[in-house]
Amino acid sequence: MKTAVFSTKPYDAKFLIAADVDAVHDFDFFEERLSPHTAKLAEGHTAVCAFVNDVLNARVLDILRSLDIGFIALRCAGFNQVDLRHASSLGIKVTHVPAYSPYAVAEFALTLVLALNRRIHRAYNRVRDGNFSIDGLLGFDLRGKTVGVVGTGKIGRVFSGLFSGFGVKIFGYDLYHSPEFTELGGKYVELDTLFSEVDIISLHCPLTPQTFHLIDAQSIAKMKRGVMIINTSRGALVDASAVIEGLKSEQIGYLGLDVYEQEADLFYENLSERIIQDDVLQRLVTFPNVIVTSHQAYFTDTALQNISNTTVTNLTAYEKGDPLLNEVTLAMLH
Ligand code: NAD
Repeated sequence: MKTAVFSTKPYDAKFLIAADVDAVHDFDFFEERLSPHTAKLAEGHTAVCAFVNDVLNARVLDILRSLDIGFIALRCAGFNQVDLRHASSLGIKVTHVPAYSPYAVAEFALTLVLALNRRIHRAYNRVRDGNFSIDGLLGFDLRGKTVGVVGTGKIGRVFSGLFSGFGVKIFGYDLYHSPEFTELGGKYVELDTLFSEVDIISLHCPLTPQTFHLIDAQSIAKMKRGVMIINTSRGALVDASAVIEGLKSEQIGYLGLDVYEQEADLFYENLSERIIQDDVLQRLVTFPNVIVTSHQAYFTDTALQNISNTTVTNLTAYEKGDPLLNEVTLAMLH
């Protein structure tokens, strides 16, 4: 089956080709991000394979349908980038990779907590510059602190499990309560309680209309002064302008972002020779207590193997007319 793979980086092609062990799939790899301007590249293919920053709005879906594309295999877990209702109305099936390695993302979120607390990003640069002073690098013991996990799904639970070794209290907020989270020692609380009582907040819920700008001026005002906020989930959970104000007033003490609302035109590209036009992002990276990374939490060899294996399985199932075990259905919209 001919599949147009969008937003391809060399590692995507390498892992997808390796996962297609019987070489039954015919991949065309495009570096372009899927958008109304690039959707025509899918002409002559049966399926499209897309990633987190590909655009799958009504306009793109209409173009894909006009090209006889009936199937979209997302090679990611989140599906907020797809207008699912429109896809369904056009009869386009969508699959995702529901779990490829919650460990990769949870371990990365923990890495951001530890690096921010002990200011590893600053220490690394100081020593390289022959500056062996540790003044300004003061951290805090995690033991005895309270960590808030928003979204206690697969990643949130692994994150909580990693933290259970640190002697912290873990508060959780989710629409659904997971017994596994409670068994890990976590305690469910109301969102406002979580905001007001924890020292570290880590976001692990999906982006939905309810979670859009979950972290905004109002929620920041409820938090403990000096709170640490970690977002490895989706950029639009955080109102970046509001966190800049929170950082300036020192209400926010630490910020770790692996995702950013306006990341689509920036992340995954080497723009080091260009003038970045995004003033909000540029302001964020000037703070000494902020670490921004380029949506890399998922990026481990295990995760890439699992993503590629499941994507190939999804493509094969569609081609054979088998049940789509990883179909994204309207029922999954919260
Ligand atoms: P999951 O579906 O297992 O868990 C998500 C949890 O969030 C569920 O328990 C759900 O009930 C909960 N939730 C939904 N709406 C909520 C709300 N309004 N308030 C609180 N909780 C709510 O998903 P997961 O595998 O744990 O992934 C979580 C998110 O991580 C994904 O949606 C994705 O956006 C993000 N992600 C990021 C990366 C990365 O590289 N940075 C990689 C993979 C996933």
